[in-house]
Amino acid sequence: MNLKYNSEGLIPAIIQDATTKNVLMLGYMNEEAFRLTQDAKRVTFYSRSKQRLWTKGEESGNVLNLVDIKVDCDNDTLLIQAHPEGPTCHKGSDTCWNEENTSNFGFLSQLEQTIEDRRTNSKPEDSYVASLFAKGINKLAQKVGEEAVEVVIEAKDENDGLFLNESADLLFHYLMLLQAKGFKLEDIERVLKNREKK
Ligand code: AMP
Ligand code: ZN
Ligand code: ZN
Ligand code: ZN
Repeated sequence: MNLKYNSEGLIPAIIQDATTKNVLMLGYMNEEAFRLTQDAKRVTFYSRSKQRLWTKGEESGNVLNLVDIKVDCDNDTLLIQAHPEGPTCHKGSDTCWNEENTSNFGFLSQLEQTIEDRRTNSKPEDSYVASLFAKGINKLAQKVGEEAVEVVIEAKDENDGLFLNESADLLFHYLMLLQAKGFKLEDIERVLKNREKK
């Protein structure tokens, strides 16, 4: 790999959680830190403030276990995927941007959040989501069953639009049922991933 180090002999390294894909922190590496990281499979930087090699977690124990290193389009920035042990930021949060390092399902996570907002802040007469939660978990589960049956019916048909719409209904109502039971998509993800390991 022909890396472009800057005038101080450093290259920026973006550290990403290999599983959740969240950005955890940014550090700089010199040639030696880059080599050590690959050899020890632990992320090591060159600390500009300490003016020495710095293995992340050397004091706190919150190390970054190396998974993969990618170089960007013009060889001047590293993307390092790692499994963090403990919070990555020295201020105690999971990421250096004070975020929780949870799984992110993009728009579906946003939808989970909206459902939670309606459930806790809206009146049943103002919100469809709130009205379904108000009817209780059995009604909600029944609704999921109905939408599942509609998906089955549309799957037999050639109408893609209807199939997609019923699929959206199913997913939307399922997210509500999941929340009514106190779970999130990441709980399902965990179960599926554990099955993959076996
Ligand atoms: P650690 O490497 O976790 O043992 O932390 C040792 C020291 O490195 C801390 O006291 C901070 O000064 C610094 N440090 C640790 N983590 C970070 C970080 N994510 N960003 C910047 N500095 C950090
Ligand atoms: Zn670049
Ligand atoms: Zn930090
Ligand atoms: Zn439907």
